[in-house]
Amino acid sequence: MNEVPCAWATVTVPTRPPEARMTQQPLSSESLSRESTAYRAALDVVRAVEPRVAEAIGQELHDQREMLKLIASENYASPATLLAMGNWFSDKYAEGTVGRRFYAGCRNVDTVESLAADHAKELFGARHAYVQPHSGIDANLVAFWAILAQRVEAPTLERVGVRQINDLSESDWAELRAAFGNQRMLGMSLDAGGHLTHGFRPNISGKMFEQRSYGTDPATGLLDYEALRATAREFRPLIIVAGYSAYPRLVNFRVMREIADEVDATLMVDMAHFAGLVAGKVLTGDFDPVPHAQIVTTTTHKSLRGPRGGMVLCDDSLRDQVDRGCPMVLGGPLPHVMAAKAVALAEARRPEFRDYAQRIVDNARALAEGLMRRGATLVTGGTDNHLTLIDVASSYGLTGRQAEAALLDSGIVTNRNAIPSDPNGAWYTSGIRIGTPALTTRGLGAAEMDEIAALIDRVLTAAEPGTTAKGAPSKAQHVLEPKVAEEISRRAADLLAGFPLYPSIDLG
Ligand code: PLP
Repeated sequence: MNEVPCAWATVTVPTRPPEARMTQQPLSSESLSRESTAYRAALDVVRAVEPRVAEAIGQELHDQREMLKLIASENYASPATLLAMGNWFSDKYAEGTVGRRFYAGCRNVDTVESLAADHAKELFGARHAYVQPHSGIDANLVAFWAILAQRVEAPTLERVGVRQINDLSESDWAELRAAFGNQRMLGMSLDAGGHLTHGFRPNISGKMFEQRSYGTDPATGLLDYEALRATAREFRPLIIVAGYSAYPRLVNFRVMREIADEVDATLMVDMAHFAGLVAGKVLTGDFDPVPHAQIVTTTTHKSLRGPRGGMVLCDDSLRDQVDRGCPMVLGGPLPHVMAAKAVALAEARRPEFRDYAQRIVDNARALAEGLMRRGATLVTGGTDNHLTLIDVASSYGLTGRQAEAALLDSGIVTNRNAIPSDPNGAWYTSGIRIGTPALTTRGLGAAEMDEIAALIDRVLTAAEPGTTAKGAPSKAQHVLEPKVAEEISRRAADLLAGFPLYPSIDLG
């Protein structure tokens, strides 16, 4: 048996005899780890019904093990979290909230839902946690609905003197519907790193709200709070949304709340990307959104390292509206995912998680420094969180799309992203976003980050813009010599070989 340190715990895995390692022969069942036995048995059951699904599941593990995953929004959940999701909780309807369901027979769902909510409240120091949202976008919809219910619907019902919306006359209802459609939202612009759900036209939030954006100071790339304050004073939004998908610096939520209070707006923070850094106490004081915002939404699967899903934290004033997220904007809760959220949140409450969160940031900094030392230009000149944005247009003469494809050819998975005032627009972009939560889970540290910076720089230096079929310059096509892609893929695989992913799982 071998003791292998991995992100979630030290696991004991059987030592494979050298011949088994070479030929990938299955180990005898007595010597398999508990996880291997469990997954092999589970896959056998799936294989008996639809072998192609079992095969794809096995192939996905193989691919994830081989990839140098630098997608800032992805991670690797623990086997305990993954296993908590694959069971009969999936069969249960549980509309309503703990102890107040529209369906009978929910006592076990109540157990996992309250465990998840209690862990979330303790972890984030929140007054209330709602763990039913199926994703980050759903969590944001719950927040919008709750704020509208609190600030538009409730005052109308009170003024008219009725208890429920169904008791309104046709004309009062028409007036209320018009009022719903007449509300304003102020969110971070997409090219500064904001998210589509923060009031942008293609998303439902842009259709619900009249939206204005705030952005960054062109000279520093940093959030411009005074410009934001001026816009808020003039625009007077109902909601100010803070939070981002691609901003590499800290946000001062105390200042954001001050601005929101000044204009009587509700401060909503979408911490989907950096929830793990809040949970791990890397972001504290002014940089922890929970004590400052009336409502905080998040995903559970990014830096927080749980199952795919969402969550809403709020103060007492919004608790009742938030708890009605299902069925007002959400479908029935997913009890199997809430079970997995409870497991992942219990993991995030352990002291090791703080160490993990700090290493995410240390790694992002090491990667950023490694890139800058090699001549890359980074938006804002570095990072304070888990992500970095490389301006590949000015550093390497490539679009984001070309850079993303050249890196993928070389076994490095990233995604393209717009940068402030992006000359290549939101589709081709000029940026590449890279993040460290996943590789930090695998155990890579600062020395490996420097090596990865060297690999990225080598690929982007060697890659060139390609041409269309008719020979015109193309923003989509790239040219990269196959021997460079092969060399970098090999070096990436060698690097990852020292940091096995799910070392306790051997599918044979
Ligand atoms: N909010 C932010 C800030 C995000 O970055 C994302 C996804 O990347 C979401 C919300 C949406 O999360 P989901 O894909 O779980 O709906």
